[in-house]
Amino acid sequence: MKTFAAFLLLFINLSGLTHAQEEKISVLLLTGGHGFDRPAFFDMLDSFENIEYKEMRHPNANAGFLQPEGYDVILFYDMVQQISEAEKAAFEGLVNQGIGLVFLHHAIVSYQDWDFYREVVGGRYIENGEDTQTQSNYRHDVQFDAWIADKTHPITRGMKAFDIDDEIYGQVFIAPEVNVLISTSHPESMEHLMWCREVNPKTRSVYLQPGHGPGIFAESSYQKLLKYSLEWAAFRR
Ligand SMILES: [Zn+2]
Repeated sequence: MKTFAAFLLLFINLSGLTHAQEEKISVLLLTGGHGFDRPAFFDMLDSFENIEYKEMRHPNANAGFLQPEGYDVILFYDMVQQISEAEKAAFEGLVNQGIGLVFLHHAIVSYQDWDFYREVVGGRYIENGEDTQTQSNYRHDVQFDAWIADKTHPITRGMKAFDIDDEIYGQVFIAPEVNVLISTSHPESMEHLMWCREVNPKTRSVYLQPGHGPGIFAESSYQKLLKYSLEWAAFRR
Protein backbone atom coordinates (compact mmCIF):
# COMPACT_ATOMS: atom_id res chain seq x y z
CA MET A 1 0.00 0.00 0.00
CA LYS A 2 2.85 2.32 0.89
CA THR A 3 4.40 1.62 -2.48
CA PHE A 4 1.14 2.43 -4.24
CA ALA A 5 0.81 5.73 -2.30
CA ALA A 6 4.37 6.64 -3.24
CA PHE A 7 3.65 5.77 -6.86
CA LEU A 8 0.49 7.89 -6.80
CA LEU A 9 2.41 10.82 -5.33
CA LEU A 10 5.08 10.48 -8.00
CA PHE A 11 2.40 10.39 -10.69
CA ILE A 12 0.74 13.56 -9.31
CA ASN A 13 4.10 15.33 -9.15
CA LEU A 14 4.99 14.30 -12.67
CA SER A 15 1.65 15.38 -14.12
CA GLY A 16 1.95 18.73 -12.26
CA LEU A 17 5.37 19.23 -13.77
CA THR A 18 4.14 18.38 -17.24
CA HIS A 19 1.26 20.81 -16.89
CA ALA A 20 3.59 23.64 -15.79
CA GLN A 21 5.89 22.98 -18.73
CA GLU A 22 3.07 22.99 -21.24
CA GLU A 23 1.42 26.18 -20.00
CA LYS A 24 2.27 28.89 -22.49
CA ILE A 25 3.37 32.39 -21.59
CA SER A 26 0.51 34.71 -22.43
CA VAL A 27 1.66 37.92 -24.13
CA LEU A 28 -0.22 41.09 -25.01
CA LEU A 29 1.54 42.60 -28.03
CA LEU A 30 1.04 46.32 -28.61
CA THR A 31 1.78 47.68 -32.10
CA GLY A 32 1.09 50.78 -34.14
CA GLY A 33 2.47 54.27 -34.57
CA HIS A 34 5.51 52.96 -36.47
CA GLY A 35 5.75 50.56 -39.38
CA PHE A 36 7.57 47.24 -39.32
CA ASP A 37 7.90 44.14 -41.48
CA ARG A 38 4.91 42.18 -40.25
CA PRO A 39 5.62 38.81 -41.94
CA ALA A 40 9.23 38.68 -40.68
CA PHE A 41 8.29 39.83 -37.19
CA PHE A 42 5.44 37.35 -36.81
CA ASP A 43 7.51 34.51 -38.29
CA MET A 44 9.86 35.09 -35.37
CA LEU A 45 7.12 35.32 -32.72
CA ASP A 46 5.35 32.24 -34.07
CA SER A 47 8.58 30.25 -33.75
CA PHE A 48 8.53 30.67 -29.95
CA GLU A 49 6.77 27.42 -29.06
CA ASN A 50 6.07 28.32 -25.42
CA ILE A 51 4.50 31.71 -26.12
CA GLU A 52 0.99 32.69 -27.16
CA TYR A 53 0.10 36.27 -27.94
CA LYS A 54 -2.70 38.63 -28.79
CA GLU A 55 -1.95 41.74 -30.83
CA MET A 56 -3.69 45.03 -30.14
CA ARG A 57 -3.01 47.90 -32.55
CA HIS A 58 -3.25 51.64 -32.05
CA PRO A 59 -5.30 53.74 -31.85
CA ASN A 60 -7.04 51.16 -29.63
CA ALA A 61 -4.08 49.22 -28.23
CA ASN A 62 -4.04 50.87 -24.82
CA ALA A 63 -7.53 49.54 -24.14
CA GLY A 64 -5.51 46.38 -23.35
CA PHE A 65 -4.50 48.02 -20.06
CA LEU A 66 -8.17 48.39 -19.14
CA GLN A 67 -9.09 44.73 -19.89
CA PRO A 68 -5.84 42.93 -19.06
CA GLU A 69 -7.24 39.33 -19.37
CA GLY A 70 -4.51 37.86 -17.18
CA TYR A 71 -1.51 38.34 -19.46
CA ASP A 72 1.91 37.33 -18.15
CA VAL A 73 3.79 39.89 -20.24
CA ILE A 74 3.08 43.04 -22.25
CA LEU A 75 5.37 43.32 -25.28
CA PHE A 76 5.61 46.93 -26.46
CA TYR A 77 6.47 47.27 -30.13
CA ASP A 78 4.47 50.46 -30.57
CA MET A 79 5.46 54.11 -30.78
CA VAL A 80 2.84 56.57 -29.61
CA GLN A 81 2.35 59.65 -27.49
CA GLN A 82 -1.40 59.60 -26.82
CA ILE A 83 -2.71 57.86 -23.74
CA SER A 84 -5.70 58.69 -21.55
CA GLU A 85 -5.45 59.28 -17.82
CA ALA A 86 -7.61 56.17 -17.25
CA GLU A 87 -5.23 54.05 -19.37
CA LYS A 88 -2.21 55.45 -17.53
CA ALA A 89 -3.78 54.62 -14.17
CA ALA A 90 -4.71 51.11 -15.38
CA PHE A 91 -1.14 50.49 -16.58
CA GLU A 92 0.32 51.71 -13.28
CA GLY A 93 -2.10 49.37 -11.49
CA LEU A 94 -0.91 46.40 -13.57
CA VAL A 95 2.72 47.24 -12.81
CA ASN A 96 1.99 47.52 -9.09
CA GLN A 97 0.12 44.18 -9.09
CA GLY A 98 2.90 42.48 -11.06
CA ILE A 99 3.25 42.00 -14.84
CA GLY A 100 6.12 41.32 -17.20
CA LEU A 101 7.23 44.19 -19.46
CA VAL A 102 9.35 43.87 -22.59
CA PHE A 103 10.04 47.00 -24.62
CA LEU A 104 11.33 46.59 -28.13
CA HIS A 105 13.23 49.06 -30.29
CA HIS A 106 11.08 52.15 -31.04
CA ALA A 107 8.91 51.63 -27.93
CA ILE A 108 11.53 53.73 -26.10
CA VAL A 109 10.29 56.78 -28.08
CA SER A 110 6.73 56.55 -26.70
CA TYR A 111 5.21 58.85 -24.08
CA GLN A 112 7.83 61.61 -23.97
CA ASP A 113 5.93 63.36 -21.18
CA TRP A 114 5.07 60.36 -18.99
CA ASP A 115 7.76 59.86 -16.35
CA PHE A 116 6.33 56.58 -15.06
CA TYR A 117 6.82 55.05 -18.52
CA ARG A 118 10.43 56.25 -18.69
CA GLU A 119 11.04 54.72 -15.27
CA VAL A 120 9.68 51.27 -16.16
CA VAL A 121 11.54 51.27 -19.51
CA GLY A 122 14.71 52.44 -17.81
CA GLY A 123 15.45 55.01 -20.50
CA ARG A 124 14.09 57.35 -23.13
CA TYR A 125 14.81 58.31 -26.72
CA ILE A 126 14.60 62.11 -26.46
CA GLU A 127 12.60 63.57 -29.35
CA ASN A 128 12.53 67.20 -28.35
CA GLY A 129 16.00 67.92 -27.05
CA GLU A 130 17.07 71.54 -26.78
CA ASP A 131 20.14 70.99 -28.97
CA THR A 132 22.11 68.23 -30.70
CA GLN A 133 23.72 67.28 -27.39
CA THR A 134 20.43 66.36 -25.74
CA GLN A 135 18.48 65.20 -28.80
CA SER A 136 18.55 61.49 -29.60
CA ASN A 137 19.22 60.37 -33.18
CA TYR A 138 19.06 57.28 -35.39
CA ARG A 139 20.69 55.74 -38.43
CA HIS A 140 19.46 52.81 -40.52
CA ASP A 141 21.40 49.84 -41.92
CA VAL A 142 24.40 49.95 -39.63
CA GLN A 143 26.68 47.03 -38.84
CA PHE A 144 27.60 47.03 -35.17
CA ASP A 145 28.89 44.66 -32.55
CA ALA A 146 27.03 43.41 -29.51
CA TRP A 147 28.97 42.12 -26.54
CA ILE A 148 27.61 40.51 -23.42
CA ALA A 149 27.97 42.88 -20.47
CA ASP A 150 26.32 40.55 -17.93
CA LYS A 151 27.36 36.93 -18.48
CA THR A 152 25.57 35.62 -15.40
CA HIS A 153 22.05 36.97 -16.00
CA PRO A 154 19.39 34.34 -16.93
CA ILE A 155 18.71 36.16 -20.24
CA THR A 156 22.32 36.38 -21.46
CA ARG A 157 24.03 33.51 -19.61
CA GLY A 158 26.10 31.43 -22.02
CA MET A 159 25.71 33.84 -24.93
CA LYS A 160 28.63 34.99 -27.03
CA ALA A 161 29.26 38.35 -28.69
CA PHE A 162 27.64 38.70 -32.11
CA ASP A 163 27.31 41.19 -34.95
CA ILE A 164 24.14 43.06 -35.81
CA ASP A 165 22.90 44.70 -39.00
CA ASP A 166 20.03 46.97 -37.98
CA GLU A 167 19.21 50.53 -36.96
CA ILE A 168 21.20 52.30 -34.25
CA TYR A 169 20.03 55.00 -31.85
CA GLY A 170 22.38 57.63 -30.48
CA GLN A 171 22.36 59.80 -27.37
CA VAL A 172 19.55 57.98 -25.65
CA PHE A 173 18.97 58.54 -21.95
CA ILE A 174 19.65 55.36 -19.96
CA ALA A 175 18.77 55.33 -16.27
CA PRO A 176 21.84 54.66 -14.11
CA GLU A 177 20.09 52.01 -12.04
CA VAL A 178 19.38 49.53 -14.88
CA ASN A 179 21.15 46.18 -15.09
CA VAL A 180 23.03 46.35 -18.40
CA LEU A 181 22.96 43.06 -20.34
CA ILE A 182 24.44 43.92 -23.76
CA SER A 183 26.64 46.79 -24.94
CA THR A 184 28.29 47.90 -28.17
CA SER A 185 31.52 49.63 -29.05
CA HIS A 186 30.03 51.41 -32.10
CA PRO A 187 30.87 55.12 -31.58
CA GLU A 188 27.57 56.44 -32.96
CA SER A 189 25.30 54.09 -31.03
CA MET A 190 24.02 54.41 -27.52
CA GLU A 191 26.51 52.50 -25.38
CA HIS A 192 24.07 49.86 -24.10
CA LEU A 193 21.76 47.85 -26.36
CA MET A 194 19.86 45.86 -23.79
CA TRP A 195 19.10 46.13 -20.12
CA CYS A 196 16.63 44.98 -17.52
CA ARG A 197 15.36 45.98 -14.13
CA GLU A 198 13.10 44.82 -11.37
CA VAL A 199 10.54 47.59 -11.13
CA ASN A 200 9.17 45.96 -7.98
CA PRO A 201 9.36 42.39 -6.60
CA LYS A 202 6.53 41.26 -8.94
CA THR A 203 7.32 43.29 -12.08
CA ARG A 204 10.35 42.71 -14.28
CA SER A 205 11.17 44.92 -17.25
CA VAL A 206 13.50 44.44 -20.24
CA TYR A 207 14.51 46.84 -23.01
CA LEU A 208 16.05 45.59 -26.29
CA GLN A 209 17.23 48.27 -28.72
CA PRO A 210 17.83 46.37 -31.98
CA GLY A 211 14.60 45.41 -33.72
CA HIS A 212 13.95 47.59 -36.74
CA GLY A 213 14.13 44.50 -38.91
CA PRO A 214 13.43 42.62 -41.00
CA GLY A 215 16.84 40.91 -41.25
CA ILE A 216 17.49 40.73 -37.54
CA PHE A 217 14.25 38.88 -36.86
CA ALA A 218 15.80 35.80 -38.52
CA GLU A 219 19.01 35.91 -36.43
CA SER A 220 19.17 33.14 -33.84
CA SER A 221 21.01 35.25 -31.22
CA TYR A 222 18.36 37.92 -31.50
CA GLN A 223 15.50 35.43 -31.36
CA LYS A 224 16.97 33.96 -28.18
CA LEU A 225 17.29 37.39 -26.58
CA LEU A 226 13.66 38.22 -27.21
CA LYS A 227 12.35 34.79 -26.21
CA TYR A 228 14.44 34.69 -23.04
CA SER A 229 13.34 38.25 -22.20
CA LEU A 230 9.69 37.22 -22.39
CA GLU A 231 10.43 34.19 -20.21
CA TRP A 232 12.39 36.17 -17.64
CA ALA A 233 9.75 38.90 -17.47
CA ALA A 234 7.16 36.17 -16.87
CA PHE A 235 9.26 34.69 -14.01
CA ARG A 236 9.79 31.55 -16.11
CA ARG A 237 13.56 31.89 -16.39
ZN1 LIG B 1 13.40 51.54 -36.33
